[in-house]
Parts: sequence; structure tokens; C-alpha cells
Amino acid sequence: MANGRKKLKLDKRMLSILKGLAVYILIALAALIFFYQVSGPPQTGNEVPISQIITDVKEGKIQKILLEGDKLTADVKNSDQKLTSHKEAGESLYKILEASGVDPKLITIEVKDTSIQQAWIGLISAILPVIILVGLMFLLFRNAREGAQGIFSFAQSRARLFTKDQPQIKFSDVAGADEAKKELEEVVDFLKSPQKYKEMGAKIPKGVLLVGPPGCGKTLISRAVAGEANVPFFSIAGSEFMEMLVGVGAARVRDMFAQAKKNAPGIIFIDEIESIGRMRGMGFTGGHDEREQTLNQILVEMDGFTPNDHVIVLGASNRPDLLDPALIRPGRFDRRVILNMPDLEERKAIIKLHMKGKPFTDDVDVEKLARRTVGFSGADLANMLNEAAILAAREGKKAIDHIVLEEAATKVKLGPQRKRMQTEKDRKLAAYHEAGHAIVGHNLSNVDPVHRISIVARGLSGGHTMFPPTEDRSNETKSRLVEQITTALGGRAAEEMVFKDISTGAANDLEVASTIARDMVTEYGMSDLGPINIKPRPMFGLWSRMTDEGGGVSQAMQAKIDTEVKKIIDSSYKQSQQILLKNKIKLDKVANTLLEKETLESDEFEKLVGKKKVLS
Ligand code: ADP
Ligand code: MG
Ligand code: ZN
Repeated sequence: MANGRKKLKLDKRMLSILKGLAVYILIALAALIFFYQVSGPPQTGNEVPISQIITDVKEGKIQKILLEGDKLTADVKNSDQKLTSHKEAGESLYKILEASGVDPKLITIEVKDTSIQQAWIGLISAILPVIILVGLMFLLFRNAREGAQGIFSFAQSRARLFTKDQPQIKFSDVAGADEAKKELEEVVDFLKSPQKYKEMGAKIPKGVLLVGPPGCGKTLISRAVAGEANVPFFSIAGSEFMEMLVGVGAARVRDMFAQAKKNAPGIIFIDEIESIGRMRGMGFTGGHDEREQTLNQILVEMDGFTPNDHVIVLGASNRPDLLDPALIRPGRFDRRVILNMPDLEERKAIIKLHMKGKPFTDDVDVEKLARRTVGFSGADLANMLNEAAILAAREGKKAIDHIVLEEAATKVKLGPQRKRMQTEKDRKLAAYHEAGHAIVGHNLSNVDPVHRISIVARGLSGGHTMFPPTEDRSNETKSRLVEQITTALGGRAAEEMVFKDISTGAANDLEVASTIARDMVTEYGMSDLGPINIKPRPMFGLWSRMTDEGGGVSQAMQAKIDTEVKKIIDSSYKQSQQILLKNKIKLDKVANTLLEKETLESDEFEKLVGKKKVLS
């Protein structure tokens, strides 16, 4: 099906190229005719002035003159030479000769009647421009009409259809996510045997909202639902509804639902639904209007489902907090399936699934790998294993080993290594900065042990110190958050202590620290302001942004928040300075080893500074 469409597209392209060519050919032809008319036909023989012919006739050199219209061709006596010339239009050759004192009877003058020919030329040169003009206009109009059709085709939904014939994804291709699967199995059953539910008088759900962070398998599991139920799957991203023209999104929605109903039973999958389903605010801009229309159309379509339509809409979002309440009302996306970041067991399952078909050395331990990858989404894991395979192939290895996997895991989270010119001073700064993070974190009981320190640049950072979580935690405590801030500020503190100067390298650390501190104050109620949520609400619409309402937080309160944030940051910074001062010798040791080796693994680090004491 996709193939046929492609061919059609190709033919269309060829057609437009041909059309372009035709226009050029017509223009060239017109130009040619124009020049031909202006300059006369190309000359054969020797063109001479008419006076020359007259003199030659006088001198008896000419045998015969052939007259075609205004063109004369003179045969020279006793030779094959022919002279050509032109007389003035309308003048008679006899008169010209007589006027020059030549007896026309001296030579034979043959007159070829060209009046018919001339009449034709006259006719053609009069009509041809008109024909060309009409032809051009015809082509232009056709183009315009097609262009207009192009605009109308905007209205067709761009949903990609995965039919039953395509390779199907089943629930077995989704590792973990057992709860989500259980809920979705119900949807599968609805699609497979709607009769059963109808007999019970049960209403079939119209919309299911899949919620979860990016890469946790929302798209995958939706396709698996279609695969299990063996129904067509229409997939479109919310942002694809949006176009420059207002009204297009709504038209696309209408078209997509019509298509799906035609192919019922089936699934419509709307990815990033928050991009259209955002809360409606008071906006004046066109984009806002367009979104509202599109959203309304979706609601209308969903409300318009008859019990016999058997089309279920799956929407995916990673920001359900932004969704318009109208969208999650009963009869719309009233079911919610939550997909979380995979826990240890789920990571193991996902890793195993994506290990299939790849060779591994015996020392690769799935359990260890799963422990090492806390905070990785399903997509991260799939990505990591693929990167590892690529790396192993590039290095000419026979199988994927531990080292390659470790590099791949780092690459997935931090970006590829960046070899760049670094001055010795830069390296020293980076070494102390990273050593600062490591030493501070090492001396705080709630921070996870150092996994690795490196001053090899990656992505945007000049180096990194990793403290991957050793366990899946669902909650953060105040003491752990504070210690995270202190660790993040360790880099800056080390720079200041050793170089008596500070660098821009800490910008990201400061952002991390400030964000945690602000969340502690405004969201988690972990400051002297008490257990209160004063997080500024996201502001929608031009009006609220223009008036800077502060997201529902008064200015006095905003000032208090700032003070509390600063208090947390200041005390954390002081603490990291104290830790470094007390451990100056260890700091030097770590920094110098880093300069020498560039990367330190956890055991090498512990050899330098001793085992981590866990107080709690
Ligand atoms: P989302 O739509 O939530 O952003 P995707 O469904 O697009 O995430 O997942 C991206 C890729 O990650 C999938 O194609 C798959 O390879 C992998 N993946 C994610 N979650 C899982 C899982 N639970 N089991 C197996 N693979 C997964
Ligand atoms: Mg997705
Ligand atoms: Zn840093």
C-alpha cells in the first residue's frame, strides 16, 4: 500500500517536471519566431547591398534575378556564384532598376509568387503568440488548481496506518509494565469481541490516556494493543495537527476519525496529546485558536462515537498535568494507564529482550547491568544495547563485553566523548572541579557512592562525576536533597579554594542546585515557610504572561521564596567548602591522579580516599 502511494507520488513529480519543460519549450519557440521575424531568415549565399546588384546588372555580370517577395537572388554569369540582397518592401524591382538607368529587359527577372506563403507566415505569426499565451495560461491555471487541491489535501490526516499485514508488535515485545498490560488487555478484549460487552449493557471505553515519562514504552505498548487485537492502528502526533492555516487541524481530525471508522474496529493513537489538549486559556494568538479548534473537533468526534463504531482512541502524554479537563471527562479519555520508569526487575526484562540476537561475552551480567542503570528508561536501555553493539563492531570485537557496555551507558546519558584541545590549565581546572564533586559526595552519608570520575569532555560538559543511584527510590528525603545540592556545589567550591578564582564550568551545577532548592521550598514544603505548595502555576495565554501575574504567587511570597532558596544554597556551599578544606590532601591526590589517568573507576577512587562511610 505504501508502495503504490510512492509510485503515484513519483508520477506526479514527473508530470510537474514535464509541465515545466513544456513551458520552457513554448517560451523558447516564441522567442525563436520573434527573432526570425525581426532579422529575417538566415542568409544563404553572399548578401550584398542592392546597389551592388544594380551595378553588376549595369556591367552585365548578372544572368538572372529571382525575386521572392523582397528577397532577390542574382545568378552571376558564367559562374555558380549567387548573390542575395533585399529590396525595400513595396518597391518594385523594375522601378528601382529603371531609376538607376538600367533597362530591366537586359536581364531575366523571375518572380516567384510568395503571397500565399507570406499570407501563411502572417497568419501564423499573428496566431502563434495567442496560442502560446492561451497554452501558458492553461498550464498556469492547472497548476493553480492543483495547488488549491494541495491546500485541500492539508485537510487529510497524516496519520500513518499500520495495517494487519505489517509486522505486529505483541505484548511479549513489551518487557515489564505488567499493570499497564493488564489494563490494556481489557481494551484488546473490547476490540476483539465487542458483542460480549454489549450484551452486558456495558459501555465500551472511547479513550485511554497513557501517561509516563518519555521513552517508557507508550508508543510501543499502544502498537502492542493493536497487534494483540489484530486491528489497524492509526498513529499521529499531536503536533502534526498543527499547521499554519487555522482550521486545518480540525479538518484533519475529522478525516482521521472518518478513516478509522471505515476500518473499524481499530485504534487511533495520538502521541504528545498535550500539544493540542493543553488547558484552554485566554489567548489571542492564532496558534492558540487553532489548537482549541482541533481539540474541540477531537471532543466532538469522540462524543459522536456510536456504540457500534468500535474505535478506541489511545492518547499518550508525558505531561498529564497540562491536559485540558474537558479531555479527561467521562466519555472521553476517562481511563488512564500509567507507565513508569522501569524498576530493577523491569530493567532486567527489558535488557534481556533487547539482548536477543546480539552476542555477548560471558562476563556480562544482566543483574549488574540492571543495577547500574537506575534511572534509565526503556528507550535508554534499548539505545544503550544498540550503542554497545555498534561500538563492539567498530572496535572489531567478537562479542559485546563489559567495557563496551559501560561506555555505551555513559554515552546514552551524557553524550559521546568529545576530543578537544584543552590547555593544561583547563585540564587542571576540570580535574579539581570533578575531584571536588567526588570528595564532597564521598563525605556525605546520603549521597550514593562515586561510580566514576572523568575529565574527558562529553556532550556539553567538560567532565563528569557519576553517583548513580544504587537502589530504586520512590521518595526523596530532605537530607538527601540537601546533600545533593552540597555535592553539586563541590565543583565550584574546589575551584575557588585551589585557584582563588572561579570558572563558567559550574554553570550547570548551579542550575541543578538552584532547581532542587527551589522545588524544596515551593513544592515539597521543606523550608521555614512550612508545609505549603507555592509553586507558580504554569501560565497560559498572552494576557497572563503580559501582566506577569506570577502564576498565582504574590510578590511578597515570591520574595520570601527567594530568601529561602538562597538560605539553602548558602549553607550547602559553606558545608562543601568545609569538607574540602578538611580533605585538601585527598582532593590534591584525586585531582593529580585524574590529570594522569583522565578517568577513575570507583575502586581506583576508593583506593585513594578510603571506603565510603555510611552513617545511616
Ligand atoms: P514513549 O512513546 O513512551 O516515548 P516508546 O514506546 O517510543 O516510548 O519507546 C521507545 C523504544 O524504547 C521502544 O521502541 C523500545 O525499543 C524501547 N522500550 C521502551 N520501553 C520498553 C519496554 N517496556 N520493553 C521493551 N522495549 C522498550
Ligand atoms: Mg512515543
Ligand atoms: Zn560540576
